[in-house]
This record gives sequence, C-alpha cells and structure tokens, in this order.
Amino acid sequence: VTTKMTARNVNVYYGAKQALKDVSIDVSQENVTAFIGPSGCGKSTFLRCMNRMNDTVASARVEGEIKLDGEDIYKGGMDVVQLRARVGMVFQKPNPFPKSIYDNVAYGPRIHGLAATKADMDAIVEGSLRRAGLWDEAKDRLGESGTAMSGGQQQRLCIARAIAVDPEVILMDEPCSALDPIATAKIEELIDELRGRYAIVIVTHNMQQAARVSQKTAFFHLGTMVEYGDTS
Ligand code: ADP
Ligand code: ADP
Repeated sequence: VTTKMTARNVNVYYGAKQALKDVSIDVSQENVTAFIGPSGCGKSTFLRCMNRMNDTVASARVEGEIKLDGEDIYKGGMDVVQLRARVGMVFQKPNPFPKSIYDNVAYGPRIHGLAATKADMDAIVEGSLRRAGLWDEAKDRLGESGTAMSGGQQQRLCIARAIAVDPEVILMDEPCSALDPIATAKIEELIDELRGRYAIVIVTHNMQQAARVSQKTAFFHLGTMVEYGDTS
C-alpha cells in the first residue's frame, strides 16, 4: 500500500471552539476512504485541512501533523497553490466556472504551466474529460458554458478540472448530495474507476453510499474519529 497522506493527532479549533479532536488517519490510492457521520461532527473540517482549504477561515487553527508524501503540508516550505493542485477538491454543489467546458478543464493546467502548446492542452483536456467519463457527452460542445450542463455532468466536469492538474489525492465533500439517483450512480462508478490512480476521500452521510464506494471507512462523532477500518 502506497500511503499518500498521513494525519497524526490533528486538532482543529474555530476560535475557542474545538471542532476536531485528535484525529489520525492514512490515505492511499489503493483505497477509497469514506468519512461518515452526522452533520456537524467535523467531516468537512477534516477534509478541508487536507488541502489547507481551512486557511481561508480566519478563526480556524490546526494543530498536529498532516503529511503528503512525507512532507508536512502545514510547514513553511509548502506552496499552498501547488498543494491544492496535488490535493484536489470536489464540492457538494457542482461549481463549474462560468466559462466554456474546455476552459474549465484547461484552467488549472494553464496556471501551472502544464501545456507548452495548444495541442498539449487539447490532449490534457481530452484525457481529463475521458477519465471523468465525460468525453462522449462533451466533445461536441467544448465551447459551451460548463454551467449549461446537467448537474451530474457539471459534477463530472469539476472532477475533470481536478484531474487536469494531475493530482495525487482527490477530496470529495458530499459530491452526490445535490444529484439525482442516476447522476449519483455515475459518480459512484467513476469513483471506483479512479481508485488505484488517485487517493480518494469522500465525505458522505449516506452509509449505503460509503458501502458502495469505499474500502476504508472513518466514522466521526462530535469531532472525534470513533472508528476507522475496512468498510463492511
Ligand atoms: P453542512 O450541513 O453541509 O455541513 P453547514 O450549514 O454546516 O453545511 O455549513 C455550511 C458552511 O458554513 C460551511 O462552509 C461551514 O464551514 C460553515 N459553517 C458551519 N458552521 C459554522 C459556524 N458555526 N460559523 C461559521 N461558519 C460555519
Ligand atoms: P460536518 O462536515 O461533519 O457536517 P463540519 O466540519 O462542517 O461538520 O463542522 C464541525 C463543527 O465545526 C460544527 O460544530 C460546525 O458548526 C463548526 N464549524 C464548521 N465550520 C466553521 C466555521 N467556519 N466557523 C466556526 N465553526 C465552524
């Protein structure tokens, strides 16, 4: 098992309030890890620590150690823009940019200088859309706005956007809760296809979904990880 991220004894505070207590976990690309538990128990808080999304919350304070490939992501040497490419995030509500489908996917590779030529960029866009299971639906409408797609397509576009910068880890925060059952099933199938290549963490409050998509489950309750092991 190739461990991508390790968290050790993580505590998170919002001002004086402790939202997460002493959480430790390893994630690897061999397993999809599900974070499960009732609303308000700290799942999103922990997920957002894994790519320093919580940095945008002024009151948030993170203690403990979170490492990506052995490197502490909260230590001074870490480039946070780079980190968020290596550890991509997909949100509950699909949030494509109000740009073309092509430009949604090309956005990250442009910022990170991943394509030297237009042909390189075309290849990245096509490969990312293929991997996100969206190429057949998108290939004849690459110039259309991403926001004109259906909800399920928008969410797969957001996954393609994350994939385009070649991440090691993909964090998904209730990626299906705004979607209908058919779109949900497609995302769940996609997650299974992506396993092995990316370390995937999915926050869900749906036990059935955790059982369908994950191999490891972490149960949260009142800011504590109360159980962690193989999904049964
Ligand atoms: P969910 O039910 O999906 O967890 P919430 O309504 O709890 O959504 O949170 C929505 C947003 O508000 C999140 O970005 C969360 O970080 C933020 N949030 C949640 N609780 C508080 C709070 N007490 N004060 C400020 N922001 C909060
Ligand atoms: P979950 O994802 O399990 O629903 P969260 O991580 O969103 O839980 O929230 C955990 C706790 O932290 C909750 O009590 C929530 O109100 C609080 N919280 C979340 N975001 C913020 C925030 N930005 N400011 C203050 N409190 C927050």
